Amino acid sequence: MTTRTGPIFTKVALIGVGLIGSSLAHAMRRGSLAAHIAGSSNSAETRKRASELGFCHSMHENPADAVSGADLVILCTPVGAFGEVAQTIAPALKPGAIITDVGSVKMAVIRDVGPHLPSGVHFVPGHPIAGTEHSGPEAGFPELFDGRWCILTPPAGTDATAVETLAEFWRGCGSRVEVMDARHHDLVLAITSHVPHLIAYNIVGTASDLEQVTQSEVIKFSAGGFRDFTRIAASDPTMWRDVFLNNREAVLEVLGRFSEDLSRLQRAIRWGEGDILFDLFTTTRAIRRGVIEAGQDTPAANFGRDSGKPR
Ligand code: NAP
Repeated sequence: MTTRTGPIFTKVALIGVGLIGSSLAHAMRRGSLAAHIAGSSNSAETRKRASELGFCHSMHENPADAVSGADLVILCTPVGAFGEVAQTIAPALKPGAIITDVGSVKMAVIRDVGPHLPSGVHFVPGHPIAGTEHSGPEAGFPELFDGRWCILTPPAGTDATAVETLAEFWRGCGSRVEVMDARHHDLVLAITSHVPHLIAYNIVGTASDLEQVTQSEVIKFSAGGFRDFTRIAASDPTMWRDVFLNNREAVLEVLGRFSEDLSRLQRAIRWGEGDILFDLFTTTRAIRRGVIEAGQDTPAANFGRDSGKPR
């Protein structure tokens, strides 16, 4: 392994500087990964706030200006905007540049971005498995990716050097890197992230609809388990709308399985089949231990979220 003496990239462009984009800028600065970080965002308000926070060296209204001369371009907007952004920046991309993204779905990104890109640039889609329920440029922090996985899903035939350079970049941000087929990624994330978020959105919606339980009681007694769902259900509505619209197939497949399993539990409760409940709850407890042992959460009360930065 060679030891790096300077930044990996001369210029990196971030299109979108919300939670993930701003965290990447902080992590790049911490690891001295880029000599220049250019940012672009949709609204004047976000650009102004990002400029005040100063995590980018330059902020641009037009994303094409941000990507001009960049060796690495990272799409950090909601997934639904990727196609339009790719079309806008395509003519300004530097030959040989790597273009990647942080989107939570991968098949749709390949479908929407790939066709706009000129030959001679390297498209390596990616997804950091790291986040919080907070959004916007203030939400970012340099440690967000530490110890977290980043999955890269290069389409067949992608330049191997470009994939390795991007992997080195993510390791510089603190991540562990895995390369995976995009379709497989979407199925794995449907079960580990997308359907859990849908369940959280649904249970919080159901609770607020229940007429016999007043809103104040729901909030007052939330520590009974509901509270953790409300944290997840506070996640950005635009981002999550786009995730479900763009991972429809895998989400519906997992939801079908989930509904069958839920019916089985419903039946066990109705017929007093305690063994079925006990056996499942014993298995799920072991899965929780596995998550902690893999370093993906902490055994602390409140999952350690009350101390330090949110994760
Ligand atoms: P966020 O905090 O809401 O930030 C989104 C950013 O994109 C904002 O700066 C927004 O700018 C900008 N934007 C929206 N539409 C745009 C457009 N058409 N052109 C240029 N900029 C645009 O969202 P986030 O949590 O960072 O998520 C960004 C991406 O990361 C999403 O694709 C998501 O799937 C992925 N991701 C999120 C998480 C997570 O937990 N949050 C985890 C892993 C991956 P304005 O404010 O100016 O509109």
